[in-house]
Amino acid sequence: LFARGAEFLKGVVAMDGLPPGDRAEVCFAGRSNVGKSSLINALTGRKGLARASNTPGRTQEINFFTLGESHYIVDLPGYGYANAPLPVVEKWQRLLKQYLSGRANLRRAFVLIDARHGIKSVDEDILSRLDQSAVTFQAVLTKADKIKPSERDKVLDQVRTKLATHPAAYPEIVLTSAEKGDGITELRTIIAGLG
Ligand code: GDP
Repeated sequence: LFARGAEFLKGVVAMDGLPPGDRAEVCFAGRSNVGKSSLINALTGRKGLARASNTPGRTQEINFFTLGESHYIVDLPGYGYANAPLPVVEKWQRLLKQYLSGRANLRRAFVLIDARHGIKSVDEDILSRLDQSAVTFQAVLTKADKIKPSERDKVLDQVRTKLATHPAAYPEIVLTSAEKGDGITELRTIIAGLG
């Protein structure tokens, strides 16, 4: 699947802009700077692919990428910026809610968590939203190259404990490093299996 390549399709700001739900879809969420663009780039093998979502002004778009002929990869805007004006935040939350509750072809959400920090309060909104929308989500720890094994085990325990409180959580956690390549093959296999 990943050998077939990924292409940017479009950035979406309203429900009527969504591409037809004719492919299996996975989405990626995470707080700003968690390493989401780097991970999507590592997965797709395309360095500059996920980048638009980071540039100011495009932060509220849901970015769609085609993956081969059969899948969409969806890059949700990074959250946790304190400086966004309230109407913008509210509009975005409405769109996110509509997207997550109305997208029948959405197979799984991957929620990215910095391997050094574990799940923080800033992540709770999206986790509750995924529960409410009954979208199965899987935690993906990022920047695994930045932690020692002892710290890693502590964070894994914290994440496992938190996930146990979320009905939509898939229990298996993926540990990744976009830098070193850890977990990339594993994540590709998971996505390919969600056809
Ligand atoms: P985004 O805002 O979630 O899209 O985050 P980016 O992908 O832009 O990454 C934020 C910062 O973390 C950048 O400086 C990246 O170089 C760095 N980063 C991302 N992934 C990794 C990783 O696996 N290992 C390390 N050491 N740094 C990473």
